Amino acid sequence: MSEIHDLSVAELSSALRSKKLGAVEVASHFLDRIEKDKLGSFLSHNPDVTLQMAKASQERIDNNQAGALEGVPIAHKDVFVTKDFPSTAGSKMLEGYRSSFDATVVRKFAQAGCVPLGKLNCDEFAMGSSNENSAYGPVLNPWDLNAVPGGSSGGSAAAVSARLTPAATGTDTGGSIRQPASFCGVTGIKPTYGRASRYGMIAYASSLDQAGPMAKDAMDCALLLGAMCGPDLDRDSTSLDVPAEDFTKQLTQSIKGLRIGLPKEFYGEGLDAEVKAALEQAKSLLMGLGAEFVHISLPKTELSIPVYYIIAPAEASSNLSRFDGVRYGHRAQEYGDLMEMYKKSRAEGFGSEVKKRIMTGAYVLSHGYYDAYYLQAQKIRRMIAEDFKLAFKHCDLIMGPVAPSTAWGLGEKTADPLSSYLADIFTLPASLAGLPAMSVPCGMSKSVKPLPIGMQLIGNYVQESKLLNVAHQYQLQTQWHTMSPALSGDLK
Ligand code: GLN
Repeated sequence: MSEIHDLSVAELSSALRSKKLGAVEVASHFLDRIEKDKLGSFLSHNPDVTLQMAKASQERIDNNQAGALEGVPIAHKDVFVTKDFPSTAGSKMLEGYRSSFDATVVRKFAQAGCVPLGKLNCDEFAMGSSNENSAYGPVLNPWDLNAVPGGSSGGSAAAVSARLTPAATGTDTGGSIRQPASFCGVTGIKPTYGRASRYGMIAYASSLDQAGPMAKDAMDCALLLGAMCGPDLDRDSTSLDVPAEDFTKQLTQSIKGLRIGLPKEFYGEGLDAEVKAALEQAKSLLMGLGAEFVHISLPKTELSIPVYYIIAPAEASSNLSRFDGVRYGHRAQEYGDLMEMYKKSRAEGFGSEVKKRIMTGAYVLSHGYYDAYYLQAQKIRRMIAEDFKLAFKHCDLIMGPVAPSTAWGLGEKTADPLSSYLADIFTLPASLAGLPAMSVPCGMSKSVKPLPIGMQLIGNYVQESKLLNVAHQYQLQTQWHTMSPALSGDLK
């Protein structure tokens, strides 16, 4: 048998069920690796808690009460609140914060029998594309320690890639599952907006935030998605009233005759030649499996950048007003009056990117500018969704790049934040329309230290299964998703 950390969620699950492996043995194996982690991917872990949960999980296996993913370890992005670990959202504002309850997604994984390993680093309040905005330091890309892992779920992607956990949760507001998955060579899916509950997810931009799984392959993502989705109508007013389904059911189906749309706006100038070539190869392979390709257009693609960077900060400025040193968050030590306490607490607690977005958001919502910016952005957001609606008349799903390039160097875009906003161009449209979208490893760059390339699949509402089906059929023919970085030092 392969090493424990090379096993997929599916393989681990069956090895645990058939008692070839024990839940405590598996948890200890990953905890050992986490102890040696030099990537900065974990913000907190607690071996006592994890081992206790693993023991309880083993008892359920022994008593034939195993849940669907009994004993399988998982780690959560630090924007999900958890009773058993601190929850910081990568911010000093929430340093040491302990929630009195678990986020619905966290609870659902616990109900399925998953054993939590700890909490994963991310950009502060999920704002960023490189994980460099975390107040607790950046995460390194396991393929090249001088490169970013992507963001904001950079800790999740790096930890799965470096085999520190077989599965992780992420959140995606404008690409934060797909882009780091692509940069680290793992598979990740953002389901349709509303399929996974936002209850207990520390809010960034509520009309866009959506949770999803990150793992080695599409099969694992299907298993994990099945455990985390489902209506949560009492706790999340935007929860979709669509029952969770068995996302593995359609995986083995043939993709013959499936129409895949190639939006011309996704393949234009600015797309790295190596990314383009990898997508061409993936296209040929899928054609060989019987898929048909059609050319489509998503004309408002470029506008998704200004639209997103108006709407998301607007919602953030409202959501983050709760961190005032009274209701939530850090409180300044010294202050004169109440107003000074608010100001100092927020000035000390928030990092610069978060402050920038709060100010942008307050500006676009302010009297006199609301109509010119926020309202216009909302109108164009609707048009972006209409573009997809039209496109899906001609195709069953859409294929394109996740990002214009592979992972960039640490610090490379710090001086020019606009360039990192622009790099979100291919993930933002599906987020603004609320559509399911996933990232599938499809190649490696030819640089001295090769970096992973990801392809993006976008589906129509509630058609996650179709994406997972294509990804699984693709992965049956390719090895990209099985590759793992050669880590030096203790962690090999
Ligand atoms: N990079 C985008 C941003 O900074 C998306 C982040 C996300 O999806 N959470 O807003």
